[in-house]
Amino acid sequence: MKCNYGADKFFLFAAWLSVSIQINRGMWYNSRMQNELTRYLDHETRIAVVIADCTAAAGELARAHLSGPTASCYLARALAGVALLGSEASTSDEAVTFKLDCPGPLGGFLVEATGAGTLRGYTKIKVLNDFDGMGAPKDSSVLGPTGTFEVVRSVPGKILASGAVAVDKCTVASGLETYFTQSLQRRVAVALAGTAGDDGVPTIAKGIMAECPPDGDEKSFANVAAEITLLGRKAETALAVSDRNLLSKIGLAHAEPRGESPLSFACRCSRERAEAMLAAIPVEERKSLPPTIDVTCHMCGRTWTVPTA
Ligand SMILES: [Zn+2]
Repeated sequence: MKCNYGADKFFLFAAWLSVSIQINRGMWYNSRMQNELTRYLDHETRIAVVIADCTAAAGELARAHLSGPTASCYLARALAGVALLGSEASTSDEAVTFKLDCPGPLGGFLVEATGAGTLRGYTKIKVLNDFDGMGAPKDSSVLGPTGTFEVVRSVPGKILASGAVAVDKCTVASGLETYFTQSLQRRVAVALAGTAGDDGVPTIAKGIMAECPPDGDEKSFANVAAEITLLGRKAETALAVSDRNLLSKIGLAHAEPRGESPLSFACRCSRERAEAMLAAIPVEERKSLPPTIDVTCHMCGRTWTVPTA
């Protein structure tokens, strides 16, 4: 959260939110249209596939942040990426954060998924006027040549695991693949689609990830990975098809569904939490503030106007 009177408070509040003290009150749920995570398994090759479509959730989040088209593209890809990561959560209160720090104009992002399927997050820069309206943005221009991705898995009060990887030729999908390869020693192939209309609302936020387990068919996986790489080059159109069509495209037409779960945009911020945050400021300091101040949650873009007295 940030408040309108001082950078030090901004970071204090940001840290306060980021520690992910999970409380169940204050969640707000919205549409689940086009918000679904589905798992598949191809029995013959043992290759597992996860497909996440969070287009509606990305739309709600981008609208709340007033993101411009270019930033929304990357918010959509990041959200699809973290939704794929969230498929690994073993409990509903487990949270997975996916963070990028990059030298390009976007600056990076921080997104989060929970085992319950809730999604939230932000891009560091929300409007990129130099890129908006100029057609499909180039990763190298928006993100820069390199990037550092970090993934943290946690449950309330405890970090379960974390890993950071640096990538050249930075793309959101390559960050996810490199994390699995280097930090987890697991072989995956990822394609992510994210694009937005002129109004900044994502028209697609979707991802596919295939994994070859240690006992999987390596030759088949090489073919699947090559097809996913091809999909990734035109992901915005190539991924905008049914799951069955996608599975056929990557050569796993006979993969069987192993379960589906809803995804939704939700945040843990609330008026009570905003008020509690202000109450933690020393009384003398609060006296110097105006009667009310706006507290904006940077994870969802919501603003709470709370009294300072
Ligand atoms: Zn929030």
